Amino acid sequence: MTIIESGTAAAPDARASAPEPVAPQGQETLRDQYGRRIEYLRISVTDRCNFRCVYCMPLEGMAWLPKADILSYEEITEVVRQLAPLGLRRLRITGGEPTIRPELARLVAMLRAVPGVEDIALSTNGVRLPALAELLRAAGLDRVNMSADSLRPDRIVWTARRDLNFDPIRSAQAAENAGLGPIKINVVVMRGINDDEIEDFARLTLAHPWHVRFIELMPVGDMRALTWDHVVPTDEVVARIAALGDVTETAGPARGNGPAVYYRIAGGPGSVGVISPLTHTYCASCNRVRLTADGRLRTCLFGDHEVDLRTPLRTGVPLGPSFRAALAAKPLEHELLQMRVGGLRALSQVGG
Ligand code: SAM
Ligand code: SF4
Repeated sequence: MTIIESGTAAAPDARASAPEPVAPQGQETLRDQYGRRIEYLRISVTDRCNFRCVYCMPLEGMAWLPKADILSYEEITEVVRQLAPLGLRRLRITGGEPTIRPELARLVAMLRAVPGVEDIALSTNGVRLPALAELLRAAGLDRVNMSADSLRPDRIVWTARRDLNFDPIRSAQAAENAGLGPIKINVVVMRGINDDEIEDFARLTLAHPWHVRFIELMPVGDMRALTWDHVVPTDEVVARIAALGDVTETAGPARGNGPAVYYRIAGGPGSVGVISPLTHTYCASCNRVRLTADGRLRTCLFGDHEVDLRTPLRTGVPLGPSFRAALAAKPLEHELLQMRVGGLRALSQVGG
């Protein structure tokens, strides 16, 4: 059992000092008040979902956004059209569960046509991928991140609290077959619930060119069924993976690495990643902002930093000044560990 630190791998906090790509002609390079380059927008298209994941949504009692408050596809595209010249180049469509919003492929095609947009990814729970992957690819989607917290049918139903016949392997394969790679599979690790599947998930990377990423459970959303005791630090996950063979730290998949640190198990085409929002914060290299389904710009996933873009959008006021003001207030780091948060919105509501 060995972990070899390769020279090319970057620790999350070190990425802030990595050489940066040059902005295409006609695009600005946007920086926040701490000099972080901002080029990545996560777009939530709905706060609703067909799952009720045990760490995300309560079974009952969610207060859904009124339909009139939710940005239309035309409005979302207009936001991107105005912000792309300021330096946004990468988009991720998320939610809630984005694939339950009708005609999602239409939005993908509209975003694809915006000059300056280089990469469009989707975050999904995967349930509808077998039905939609080809359509989304044809519309211009580049790649998919899929969530899966178990490979066992009974446990999937328990963690998602809905029985939708979800088969993670079938869904990931459908996305790969449609050309939506590199496929990333996100697993929220919960002690005593699914941590006995860490090795099973990691072994998928020996058989498939997939990138399985283990995420630390975060104290946001509906945590009634969970406590701090369910959090599994990613150092523990890495130690477990190291026992599977020769494990090398790698640069990870070519596109969209974000905050993950990647490892490769010798002999496999895929990789294993860990994302550690609690134990190794990656705020220093944060390059992203979020658009909520009701048109608010959030500059940090956690906390309460939001700027309303919907009002200027619907009244014909240019968005650039609001966007710049939001970036000027982007916090240096989140406050999850200090537990100064309280009343955090679920990730499903803010486009996690
Ligand atoms: N519905 C899509 C999905 O599940 O991939 C997209 C939205 S979901 C809010 C985005 C990601 O946030 C998922 O990978 C999910 O597992 C993760 N997530 C939600 N609540 C979380 C929590 N309390 N701790 C860690 N990850 C969480
Ligand atoms: Fe839905 Fe994604 Fe939240 Fe699960 S994590 S309830 S799939 S939004």
